[in-house]
Amino acid sequence: MKISEIFYSIQGEGKRTGSPSFFIRTNHCNLRCKFSDGNLCDTSYTSWFPDDEKNMGDVEIDFILDEYRKINSGDIVITGGEPTMYPDELEMLCRYLKEISNNIIITIETNGTNFGDFVKYADLMSISPKLNSSVPFNTEYVKMHQKSRINLEVFKKYNSLKLNNEIDIQWKFVFTDENDIAEILDLQHKVGIDRKDIYLMPEGITKEDLNKNRLQTIECCKKLNFNYTDRIHILAWGNSRGK
Ligand code: SF4
Repeated sequence: MKISEIFYSIQGEGKRTGSPSFFIRTNHCNLRCKFSDGNLCDTSYTSWFPDDEKNMGDVEIDFILDEYRKINSGDIVITGGEPTMYPDELEMLCRYLKEISNNIIITIETNGTNFGDFVKYADLMSISPKLNSSVPFNTEYVKMHQKSRINLEVFKKYNSLKLNNEIDIQWKFVFTDENDIAEILDLQHKVGIDRKDIYLMPEGITKEDLNKNRLQTIECCKKLNFNYTDRIHILAWGNSRGK
């Protein structure tokens, strides 16, 4: 499996914020987010620059399992990059992790563009659809990003599993400014998302960015009855790898 990094930390975002977690970060992404303030995605070493020499490269699933056994505590968060780019390996990894212990809580963090049987093993699907504010204008990736970033059929598949109580979901939107609101409401309507499952998170990869964007994000949550989530790992460590 193509892996960027493996580390133990706390979950910094969403409904499991604060949970000690073993992070498995896959390498590569099918999108290239770039926000209006010029920030690239917070793990650009997996998406824009997957050849970064600090990325681990091809890693056997047995190695990942052994690393987890050394810690043997906390949630498992499988993130990226985009982990669903490797659906079969992702399913296998989740299945083997569940064989180690049934008490393991697995979160899969995804941009929601791919579906697969891995979903059977996810206790929480954390889906972060990429809005128009993420389009990398003036780069070679605009077309590719625009074509792939929203997959309504897949979003609906995930949401129907939630409606049938087969999985738990959080829809986590990176909030840049009030121009995002119409698109979020449109997606909520088209997919049929329960407002209780929606989290808005301020865009930013530094404490300063988050401080600048936090209040407008909170005000939007109050107005639309959505949940707010901060980015605790950025506040604690900045945008450092392995944290
Ligand atoms: S989808 Fe996620 S990992 Fe991929 S470029 Fe966007 S923010 Fe980065």
